[in-house]
Amino acid sequence: MIIMNNSIISSLQRMIDVNTPIIYIHDYDFVRIDELIRQVVANKKVFEWNPATGITNFHTKAMQGNGNMQSLESFLENKYNEDGETVKEKYLVLKEIQDYIDEPKIKTLLLLMSQRRLYDREYDTTIIIVSSVLRVPQEIEKYVSFLEIDYPDEEEINRLIDEHIEVNFYDKNKFKEEDREKLMPSLKGMTAFEIDRMLDMAMSSNGSLSAEDTEMILRQKKQMVKKSGLLELIDTPENLNSIGGMDALKKYLTNKAQVIKQIAEARRYGVAIPKGVFIVGMPGCGKSLCAKASAALFESPLLKLDMGSMMGKYVGESEANLRKAIRIAEAAAPCILWIDEIEKGFSGVGGDNDTMTRMFGYFLSWMQDKKSSVYVIATANNADALPPELKRKGRFDEIFCVNLPNEEERKAIFKVHLEKKERRACVKDSSIDYTALSKSTNGFNGADIESVVNEAIEKSFLEGAKGLQTQQIVDIAHKTVSISKSCQKQIENMKKAFADNSFKDATTGNITNNKL
Ligand code: ATP
Repeated sequence: MIIMNNSIISSLQRMIDVNTPIIYIHDYDFVRIDELIRQVVANKKVFEWNPATGITNFHTKAMQGNGNMQSLESFLENKYNEDGETVKEKYLVLKEIQDYIDEPKIKTLLLLMSQRRLYDREYDTTIIIVSSVLRVPQEIEKYVSFLEIDYPDEEEINRLIDEHIEVNFYDKNKFKEEDREKLMPSLKGMTAFEIDRMLDMAMSSNGSLSAEDTEMILRQKKQMVKKSGLLELIDTPENLNSIGGMDALKKYLTNKAQVIKQIAEARRYGVAIPKGVFIVGMPGCGKSLCAKASAALFESPLLKLDMGSMMGKYVGESEANLRKAIRIAEAAAPCILWIDEIEKGFSGVGGDNDTMTRMFGYFLSWMQDKKSSVYVIATANNADALPPELKRKGRFDEIFCVNLPNEEERKAIFKVHLEKKERRACVKDSSIDYTALSKSTNGFNGADIESVVNEAIEKSFLEGAKGLQTQQIVDIAHKTVSISKSCQKQIENMKKAFADNSFKDATTGNITNNKL
């Protein structure tokens, strides 16, 4: 038996009570959604239409109309034109209508029925669309409310586990409390349907259910991430040693990683769950590098969220994509969610871009209420383009700004790139003067330094030299157009923005503007 979470039942009930003309449930678990509808509408009149069987008895699933399938259009037309007794409280459950909803007649009928529902007190028809694909034409958007189905909580997951043990005649005594505790985090953040499948797979692989199945479940979850197309699972060899400079930021991330790695103990001790860090800074100065290195530091998967891929062409699609991406990240927790160039994603906030503003609002409230061990690392270039709400405390734990590297940091960056394993041959007999290198690269960013090193090594190789010399690198540096020269104005503006705002300096840990 499917047991529904009480909060979802009351959410649906509330939507009906406030006369919502169209309720949209974006889900593919029809059995579960039917149960939800059944529990809310009890023994009221419910009519179902779906593309496979047309008008269908909602309760028995028997096709209506003596084998003649009625089209969605004529079904809606009939229901719209009803009068008298027949208009009393009833529900139309429209399943998988995404391929029909854009047709002019369907759109118009849905619009007319919504308006009649609002203006005609007698006409008490609620439309419930249940669809695995989210598609809402702009014309009816105003009349639609989306019902979000929460992932099962611990109580429900436990019930699903118990059900599986019973159905499979598995010896209850073999399934220990430790098994349950170990399996629980891996089953969180999935739909009941997905949890069912995972438990089936675990049972069928070795006829038992135990903590050992956790690994298989986590592997399957990674697949889910890949399939979504909204997030990228980044596999990277970077670690903290790949970063030159930014000592304060590195120390900060190291502390947060410690907390996340022992989250249960930290929670018990009263430590606040780390939410995430916002890194703004000059281009090519190692922001992405920090995000990548965090994967090794936190010993967690790194999921990159591309704001561009969130944008859909249908109403509500972009928000649904963002919600889905966040739910997947929660499913993969503990993990790092890296949002690159966040300012580009939220650039239209506050203007007339409603979609962007709604997405931004959703993101902020998720950050504010976040209880999961998804650690967010957001990176951005332009500090001025950020909406102020994003900078407020309570969303990110801290905002760091990354400036062009100072003399000591440039030394460290040269070391990182010259002392890489694969470079040992060309620098082994050289005594590199790192101070001289650093002095010749004032105004360079990390990417500039990396390119100077690459060029010097290539030149030295082509000239048949035995090893790389300091002077060769300095000569190349002198001929290099650094970021400070190629983007002089932008760099000056950024420096000013950092000084005007109150950020933590990634190098020193000091506040950039203490007067604010
Ligand atoms: P953008 O804002 O343009 O995306 P970014 O700040 O994210 O830039 P990265 O992509 O992290 O910059 O850096 C580009 C390359 O420059 C890196 O692959 C790395 O090799 C080198 N680099 C930059 N900063 C550092 C650093 N502090 N230490 C070592 N290498 C660095």
